[in-house]
Amino acid sequence: MTAAVNSGWPVIGHEWAIAHLSRSLAFDRVRHAYLFTGPGMIGKTTLARVFAASLNCRDAHAPCGTCRTCTLILKDGHPDVSIVEAGQAGGQLKIEQVRDLQQTLALRPYEARYRVAVLRRFHEANPAAANALLKTLEEPPPGVILILTADAADLLLPTIVSRCQPLPLRPLPVEVVRAALMTRGAPPDTAQTLAQISGGRIGWAIRALADPAELAQRAEWLDLLETALQGTRRERFALVEKLSLEKTGLQTMLDFWVGYWRDALLIASGSRAPITNYDRQAALQALAERAGMGAVQHALDATRRTSQHLNKNVNTRLALEVLMLDYPLP
Ligand SMILES: [Zn+2]
Repeated sequence: MTAAVNSGWPVIGHEWAIAHLSRSLAFDRVRHAYLFTGPGMIGKTTLARVFAASLNCRDAHAPCGTCRTCTLILKDGHPDVSIVEAGQAGGQLKIEQVRDLQQTLALRPYEARYRVAVLRRFHEANPAAANALLKTLEEPPPGVILILTADAADLLLPTIVSRCQPLPLRPLPVEVVRAALMTRGAPPDTAQTLAQISGGRIGWAIRALADPAELAQRAEWLDLLETALQGTRRERFALVEKLSLEKTGLQTMLDFWVGYWRDALLIASGSRAPITNYDRQAALQALAERAGMGAVQHALDATRRTSQHLNKNVNTRLALEVLMLDYPLP
């Protein structure tokens, strides 16, 4: 038997994941729970929305992207598709939200074939919320598909992970981001710059194309890191104190810091691979020479750890202070 496998999903990159999902649809082997993992702003929720549309669009080439079902789902306005997430990035997803969702999922679909729930950044779920969801994962109501997204699988309870089909997504190649930006009208130079410094985070690149403030914000965060690295412990703690007052954006800031240390590690290890923050080449070179590979690796690991646990950490200031202690002194 042959079945049409549609690769025309309105998603940039992630081809193998799309191929996997559209095959499971074509052969009627859709699982009732999926886990999309990968760094922030690489398109996990976009893929989840488009998958939800594919599950429910009645067009022969689902998702058609134009029918009422597709339109509503892609705009987060369909009654049978729920998006559940912490109040803000870096917040906590709470048990009441999971209970509300469970009540919704217990009902028959309102008009769609499947009820789909997208639980975004599920690593931000507190333990009570995660445990509450386990019940649904163990005995999902018929016609219900759950899609969890998270930065990494090891941030979730193993019992949650083992009940989901994992789909680990990666940042996109620079070339793919560049082409996508040009399709959206970016001049070649701008497309190249944004694609490169996005580190493959297409969501950030698209946002930065629409709003130059994103680019300025990135520069500010990297300046701040470079200033901290030049400073004494006392000066670093003063910076952290100021930073921890900003409640939003710290996750994105740490994503950029991870990229910065990854570049420093590339240089320190003598790799010829192109760096992401090429506009910071001189500072990175100096840092790599001064600190050495061991200290750079240590700083990269610490930044990654802080980034992954920032959400669970009630005390942001303490987490950033500890991180500063892991950075090499001048
Ligand atoms: Zn459709």
